Amino acid sequence: MPIVSDRGCLHGRGWLRHGRRCARPLCGDRLESPAGARFAVRAGVLADKGVISVKGWMRGVRRIASPNFDARPAGERISLVVIHAISLPPERFGGPGVIQLFTNALDPDEDPYYATIGHLRVSAHFFIRRDGELIQFVSTEARAWHAGVSCWRGRERCNDFSIGIELEGCDSRPFETVQYDVLAALLKRLRRRYRGLEIAGHSDIAPGRKTDPGPCFDWGRAGIVAPLQQGCFDKSQSDQ
Ligand SMILES: [Zn+2]
Repeated sequence: MPIVSDRGCLHGRGWLRHGRRCARPLCGDRLESPAGARFAVRAGVLADKGVISVKGWMRGVRRIASPNFDARPAGERISLVVIHAISLPPERFGGPGVIQLFTNALDPDEDPYYATIGHLRVSAHFFIRRDGELIQFVSTEARAWHAGVSCWRGRERCNDFSIGIELEGCDSRPFETVQYDVLAALLKRLRRRYRGLEIAGHSDIAPGRKTDPGPCFDWGRAGIVAPLQQGCFDKSQSDQ
């Protein structure tokens, strides 16, 4: 059973006091870590109360402003969410690297890899850490710089019409349950705000160039139907 879902194991403070497993009869939802507990509860709160303001900022979420954004094209409808995975340094979790990257503050002396990416000016709207912490860097109303050269359903420059969500992760290690919980809650709020949103992976809109969110990402656990098409070469197009 999941730790928490929209209606899931949110049996109040008693659940947390009882430690690693929900004490409510017939529930048995498992708690994977103390940090997970903190943010699993928060995922439920997020799903119910994480309203996105008219200016595109989610209430109650840690905000770290990135300078790496600009305006979406006039009249552009937000119609896509792009799921990414990132870890800095690669395959290491918990450090400040991703925040530093999105705020142009990477220290090239900290890790040799940083010297190769320190010039990049990139961002995402949201970042979900391994412990479930959710950070917002860019207003959803603005254009974050996460997709790069990309194409979805015949449309290029996916940054124009998408929202980027980064999960702290890599191609070789499973994501944490609490990350799926927070992602599901975040998607629920985004779908409420932006009707008709589709969801794709970075690898779907930039096939051959990007692999994230990678083979360890379980679409079903985030409550998402995995995209059936890739980039600009979806089935309907290739049949023509
Ligand atoms: Zn990506």
